[in-house]
Amino acid sequence: MSLSMSRRQALLSTAIAPVAAATAFSAKAADEKPAMLPMDKARAFRVGALEGATLLAGTAPRPDPQSIFGLNVSAEEFSAASEANFITTESAQFYFTPTVLRSGDEVVLFDTGLNAGGITAALAEAGMSPDDITKVVLTHMHGDHIGGLMNEGTPTFANASYVTGQAEYDHWAAAGNERFDANVKPLADKMSFIGDGDSVAPGITAMAAFGHTPGHMTYMLESEGKQLLIAADLANHYVWSLAYPDWEVKFDMDKTAAAASRRKVLGMLAADKLPMIGYHMPFPAAGFVDTREDGFRYVPVSYQLL
Ligand SMILES: [Zn+2]
Repeated sequence: MSLSMSRRQALLSTAIAPVAAATAFSAKAADEKPAMLPMDKARAFRVGALEGATLLAGTAPRPDPQSIFGLNVSAEEFSAASEANFITTESAQFYFTPTVLRSGDEVVLFDTGLNAGGITAALAEAGMSPDDITKVVLTHMHGDHIGGLMNEGTPTFANASYVTGQAEYDHWAAAGNERFDANVKPLADKMSFIGDGDSVAPGITAMAAFGHTPGHMTYMLESEGKQLLIAADLANHYVWSLAYPDWEVKFDMDKTAAAASRRKVLGMLAADKLPMIGYHMPFPAAGFVDTREDGFRYVPVSYQLL
């Protein structure tokens, strides 16, 4: 530092110093190991007398989000919509968020993440182990939802039975899918198959929301006059799928049906002011839905579910 530095320069250098230090720290950390997000993996919530937690089983950035969202709109439209909502078009942060819920004597887990390690670590933060789970509900059978069912060929949840939609199971059983054959098929004799409106446990009711996959189901939680929807993959991004429900999404197997399900269910959540948990929403993955222009707006929860 030069003694002739002006007061203005000195102030500037002081202001910049923390930024420089942070950059240096990041560079050093990146050399040693991949960047990690320092975040918690379990967040408690309550719906009436039902107690649960959202579980962050994994999170990762993905490049080129328009290869996934907004397939039917121009790059200019995608970019303008993203900028208006303060998010980049360079990459998108993906979240994988199963939910655990106590209902009477049952401990119900909705979906299982990408692998056994992710869900086991998140359960541990909620003070639970895979052995505590008595029932695993599979909303649908994409790899990021069934990945944690098996741990090197052994069932991860030793004491659990399984519930899934009949239509979903039938589709994948006929599809010749490697992941299904490895992770779901071996559990079939402990699995029960349900349809729209069926009850899974007291206060948990299945609601069909087909389109993302042929038998994709959401689950309404209800207790003491309070409700919350486990929305699974009804909407996969908090901006691109909420504000623009008709934007086509790579992972929606029937894009027209998926958009119709989004409009119907998001419209219901907005009208009734009900909270949802979205499997791919930013952690803690719970929020409310408001209407905005021709679509919807995601309003993350603060303390409403404590
Ligand atoms: Zn998913």
